[in-house]
Amino acid sequence: MPRKFSGLRGVPTSIDSLLQAALTDRFHLGQILVQKRNDDFILSHRDDEDRTNLQTFRNAENAAEIAKYDEAGNYRPLKTAPNLRCGWRLELSTSPELKRALDYFYPGRLAVFGAWKSGQLRTTNLRDTLDRQSGMYRVAAKISDEQIDDVVGDFCRSNGGCLRTILWKRDRRGTIASTKLPPQKFDPAHDQTATGPGLATRATAATAATIPLLCQEACNLLVAECRKAVKGE
Ligand code: SF4
Repeated sequence: MPRKFSGLRGVPTSIDSLLQAALTDRFHLGQILVQKRNDDFILSHRDDEDRTNLQTFRNAENAAEIAKYDEAGNYRPLKTAPNLRCGWRLELSTSPELKRALDYFYPGRLAVFGAWKSGQLRTTNLRDTLDRQSGMYRVAAKISDEQIDDVVGDFCRSNGGCLRTILWKRDRRGTIASTKLPPQKFDPAHDQTATGPGLATRATAATAATIPLLCQEACNLLVAECRKAVKGE
């Protein structure tokens, strides 16, 4: 099995303070819009901001179910893929519940954001990630640079692939992860959903602070794709 990433040297003691600094009364995290209403937090899909016929949930744990399947009922193995389903509204009354829900939607992303904000995030280049694989995934390390350009360029692209901002490099020399991705894919200040479906809707929506979904190390799914490329599958 591909190993899980462990790119954090430490996480800040208070994600709350970071959230407070990043937020006003509304903010975006990936495809989610969070709005503060009095003392409550209202979460919805960004594309549902003006919809009223939404199914309402009130437990942070409901986020796990909402995030599990896409619109067509297919399982979502990559939670940062731009296929979060619409049609729901999640009402939460405390900040810990909000953090828990956001962690179900986008596991680990708030902690990574906090570590990045405090200058403590460590990234791992793709070659090192591939070199440490074992078992059936060991062969993935044989991938060529040309294949990396294609695989990363296709699998990680924001439009249809993944909404994370890539912070890792290809190798220890600091080579860009893929020459097939636009510069914005590596820019935490860029809203990755702006290159995905629904751009026209969002371009007219009120602006809101955006917390980036950061990628500090190639995920298991990308490692599996690299293996497939080497095997010619
Ligand atoms: S490696 Fe990072 S950016 Fe690429 S698909 Fe995996 S999580 Fe997304």
